[in-house]
Amino acid sequence: MDTILVVNAGSSSVKFQIFSVEGEGDLRRQIKGQIDGIGSRPRLRASGVRGVPLAHRAYPIESVSDVSAAMGVASGWLRDELRISPMAVGHRVVHGGPDFVGPVLIDHGIVAQLERFVALAPLHQPHNLALVRSLLANFPTLPQVACFDTAFHRTRDAVSDHYAIPHQLYAEGVRRYGFHGLSYEYVAKTLPHVAPEIAKGRVIVAHLGSGASMCALKGGRSIESTMGFTALDGLPMGTRPGQIDPGVVLYLISEKGMSPAKVQDFLYRDSGLKGLSGVSNDMRELEASEDPKVKLAIDYFVYRVGLHAGMLAAALQGLDAFVFTAGIGENSIRIRARIVDQLRWLGATLNPIGNSRHMRLISGSDSCIPVYVIPTDEELMIAQHTLSLLLERPSPGVRHERAS
Ligand code: ADP
Repeated sequence: MDTILVVNAGSSSVKFQIFSVEGEGDLRRQIKGQIDGIGSRPRLRASGVRGVPLAHRAYPIESVSDVSAAMGVASGWLRDELRISPMAVGHRVVHGGPDFVGPVLIDHGIVAQLERFVALAPLHQPHNLALVRSLLANFPTLPQVACFDTAFHRTRDAVSDHYAIPHQLYAEGVRRYGFHGLSYEYVAKTLPHVAPEIAKGRVIVAHLGSGASMCALKGGRSIESTMGFTALDGLPMGTRPGQIDPGVVLYLISEKGMSPAKVQDFLYRDSGLKGLSGVSNDMRELEASEDPKVKLAIDYFVYRVGLHAGMLAAALQGLDAFVFTAGIGENSIRIRARIVDQLRWLGATLNPIGNSRHMRLISGSDSCIPVYVIPTDEELMIAQHTLSLLLERPSPGVRHERAS
């Protein structure tokens, strides 16, 4: 069986999926797994088609001390117990910087270029690249493809790509990149099958997960989004504040004596829903709480989604549809209802029964704009990109072109 391995490496976990390549180049998901608790309580969990459990086992801490060791355990399990040796690996790489407008076959030169963006995605990029490097060292002939969260937004106009700072910094790469591009690309590709006329129009997609952002799609193309240079801007998230006056950061440095590393931790790990509620970064836990600070955190989240929807509707000069996706967007009946209420001024109404049944269309029959729930599938996007690049690959010995 020809298979593609899709991996997403984080600081303490490696998530992986196996897709089989069927006739006509169709892809079928066979296995979904992850190793989490790296460096603390490593565990491998995996399931097969229709969620059939395949593995649930613990490992001694010293045998899975980093992402490369975790991938070694996962690939050993796939090879020895399931007889799966993938023909290629597709990686989610968060930051592609200014040059990468699409997925790219990885070599040492590409890795060196991507190292430059480690500081711009400190929670993900170093781990993404550590895994790439270890696979390059151990399996030098195995094709690896990098798929970027930034690439989908790279065709935006100059006004949405710039900050109002001296041009030299833009030239160096200080730009409004936008993230969650693989998720938006999946939604943009799915919409024509859901509502062909709407897909040609002006759509806001709200990717509301642990990380959260929104994207304005015009004819399936990103024209604006809530995130910028890094994945800190825009909506409040599990542990990130979203939009914040840069003066707050100056205050933390000059008045609180915080070092750059402390500020980074504050912005990436201690803020957002966790910081504001003082309870949790997990929306399920927050929804179950009666704490007034938790209520404020949820109110803030909903309010901010509404504010940014207004901004994106202005960028689009109107709105033809609104789409929810990712963990909160796909699952939280209450948060969706409250956000649709924030969109009332745009003419949106809710069908409470459709919403509570998680139907694809959840707007009321009197709504001026349809509101959809479209579950995202970033891994399928990565597998598709990986297969496409594999099929286009030049013959051995010919250096591939970099997407730039
Ligand atoms: P990531 O992939 O970035 O880890 P997800 O897209 O999985 O994030 O989203 C995680 C978020 O979704 C968490 O805040 C979690 O609480 C929330 N979530 C998942 N299921 C539900 C649910 N049934 N109700 C409310 N929130 C949910």
